[in-house]
Amino acid sequence: MTEYLIEAHGIERTFGTSANPVRVLRGLDVCVESGTLVALYGPSGSGKTTLLNLIGALDKPNAGTILLKGQDIVKMNDGKRAKLRRTQIGFIFQSDTLLPTYTAMENVDLALRLPRLGIFERRRRAQSALQAVGLTAWASHVPDELSGGQRQRVSIARALALHATIILADEPTSGLDTRTARHILTLFRNIAHEQGTTLFIVSHDPLVVDYVDQAYDLVDGRLVARPIPTRT
Ligand code: ADP
Ligand code: MG
Repeated sequence: MTEYLIEAHGIERTFGTSANPVRVLRGLDVCVESGTLVALYGPSGSGKTTLLNLIGALDKPNAGTILLKGQDIVKMNDGKRAKLRRTQIGFIFQSDTLLPTYTAMENVDLALRLPRLGIFERRRRAQSALQAVGLTAWASHVPDELSGGQRQRVSIARALALHATIILADEPTSGLDTRTARHILTLFRNIAHEQGTTLFIVSHDPLVVDYVDQAYDLVDGRLVARPIPTRT
């Protein structure tokens, strides 16, 4: 029997009022193994961010189970969910979440203080993550001195440095030029396959499907597998 990293069944997520419910996820199932790069496509408003928030233990479904390494994260208490988020899950959000008065290096380092790593290990990881996204020369600059694309790459470095079990990325390549986007997607692929991290990438970018192991479309509140190009 396959041991899945994430196993979600019958996920329902409804917003709005009981008189006017908005049923976003409608009995969604998904199973993903460790070390998998997954693309999540779907039109705006289809529920992609909603799904990432559920997998990332930021939100709870109205019904259904979400198992992470066999553990039900919906039933976990808030303390355990918070610990799970800061130690096992790397988030790359669409909105700019960098702290304005901190340098690129400090913004990456900040994410590593919560798992209580030693200062040398933190510095080593932060440097290596900034190098991986091509920002070594910008390490001591604050967000205001960086372009939108560079700030996006700092957020990516922050998630990489955590050595997370899962990375949830909401349109991580939007705003990046094609060359940088390809570089980041290659990086994601290497992280998945070499470190065993599972990455969910929400995207509108048709480029993404060239890099992933699995691709899904969110249609009517469920996932529909999309064929991916065969690779040699
Ligand atoms: P996507 O990321 O695919 O664009 P979202 O997951 O952000 O879509 O949103 C899906 C639907 O759920 C939208 O109709 C949105 O308005 C609604 N929605 C999402 N989050 C909330 C919330 N916290 N409260 C009310 N409605 C929400
Ligand atoms: Mg969204």
